[in-house]
Amino acid sequence: MPDLYIDGMWVPASGAGTRDTINPFDGSVVQTVDEASAADAVAAVEAARRAFDTGPWPRTPIAERSATLTRVAGLLQRDREQIARTETLDTGKTLVEARQDVDDVTAVFGWFAEHALSQRDRVVETGNPDVHSRVVREPVGVCSLIGPWNYPLLQISWKVAPALVAGCTSVVKPSEVTPLSTIHLVRLIAEAGVPAGVVNLVLGAGAAVGPTLVEHDAVDLVSFTGGLMTGRAILRGAAQTIKRTAVELGGKNPHIVFADVDFDTVVDQVLTGVFLHAGQVCSAGTRLIVERSIADDLVAAVASRAERIVLGNGLDEASESGPLVSAEHRAKVEEYVRVGTAEGARLVTGGRRPEDPTLARGYFYLPTIFDDCSRDMRIVQDETFGPILTVERFDTEQEAIVLGNDTEYGLAGAVWTGDEERGDRVAAGLRHGTVWINDFGYYVPQAEWGGFKRSGNGRELGVAGLEEYQELKHVWRNTRPGPAGRFTS
Ligand code: NAD
Repeated sequence: MPDLYIDGMWVPASGAGTRDTINPFDGSVVQTVDEASAADAVAAVEAARRAFDTGPWPRTPIAERSATLTRVAGLLQRDREQIARTETLDTGKTLVEARQDVDDVTAVFGWFAEHALSQRDRVVETGNPDVHSRVVREPVGVCSLIGPWNYPLLQISWKVAPALVAGCTSVVKPSEVTPLSTIHLVRLIAEAGVPAGVVNLVLGAGAAVGPTLVEHDAVDLVSFTGGLMTGRAILRGAAQTIKRTAVELGGKNPHIVFADVDFDTVVDQVLTGVFLHAGQVCSAGTRLIVERSIADDLVAAVASRAERIVLGNGLDEASESGPLVSAEHRAKVEEYVRVGTAEGARLVTGGRRPEDPTLARGYFYLPTIFDDCSRDMRIVQDETFGPILTVERFDTEQEAIVLGNDTEYGLAGAVWTGDEERGDRVAAGLRHGTVWINDFGYYVPQAEWGGFKRSGNGRELGVAGLEEYQELKHVWRNTRPGPAGRFTS
């Protein structure tokens, strides 16, 4: 079956383009998918426009749209194992993580289905008894939903679920590196009974189809998750037609540890915070900022655990971490290790590919820790997006906050302390969209996710995550109309 979904039909690419998707574990071809051209993107946008302007979906009662999302959630669970396997083959992440993604996404569809039912129009008191005034919510319109490769199913679902329930129509574009789980998701959306043209799927390189999705006059909103540079290009491209935009970009996330904590818990959390999914997580805790008195012990303990992380095939239940997503991405990570060494950071562990011959065909890289880092180093400031932890020390609470904010990004951060008030003070001082106190990495569909500063604009999930896809309209009804009386001649 072809892989592009346009106006309710699965179609091949008009230019007959294809692309191999690669298993990062061994470089083998997982599947060859259709690769859209700009003309396919235009067809998808036009289909979404027609479905919005003349189709039933935006006018379907909210209870029905909500029930459709609930059906999608059920179908995701029905296909849980198959989708998780696909995600593992495509991204290299472990099956445990991939199953978690499917469960999280199921919860996201379920929550938006429920939350949408609770929204109410707002009655406005105008002071005029003859006027009924209310503020109502309407769908924004046609949305381009563009996702990254690290959490393909998850990030696209954070967009598709609210867009659908709000009554929008959309063109979905997953990363060309990892398109497979999104194809499955769109099949489930069709199976759930979403009408033709409401959700369209275009696969392809950002450079080929991106400009159409971002600049086309018929698109009302662009929601993008990906890197900072692409985010900038998207904001520029969308500016001409004043589209609504939400951009969820990178992070350089501080993991601040005070000395008054349960040491073993923190060792485990720091390890997971940075090395989960080989560090390819926007909210990865890549920057350990630790109170000087425990720093040496903490670094030694984290390094010792890091050296025991079992790298392997994500499909193998014994694997604790998979490879990096591609040879190209591993080369980028390797370059950062070279830069860090040249900048004078001290390599504690890792810094090379594993020697295990069974991993030689994959894009593996050892968990890497650099100590004696300083804030002016590139490895401390850039999003390396790999298994690299940098370590800085602090002596005072104020210094910890300053270091935690010393980044152009502002996505997430964590503070560990046994002092409740200090935890609150540091959380208040951090300029990041999510702050964990004595925990790391958790999010729930009910709470907003998004960045301060260059981590982006807008929010996903939570109440605001639905409002991104809604316009507010003020409807004023005069029950006793009369002349305005401003002009007398
Ligand atoms: P990327 O910016 O390279 O690509 C993201 C998507 O944009 C892909 O689908 C790509 O094809 C598309 N694209 C590329 N050029 C485009 C253009 N000119 N117009 C339109 N679309 C274009 O990012 P990536 O490497 O896939 O993902 C990794 C990045 O994503 C990291 O920076 C990570 O921090 C970020 N991320 C952020 C969050 C978050 O919630 N803030 C979540 C996951 C990932």
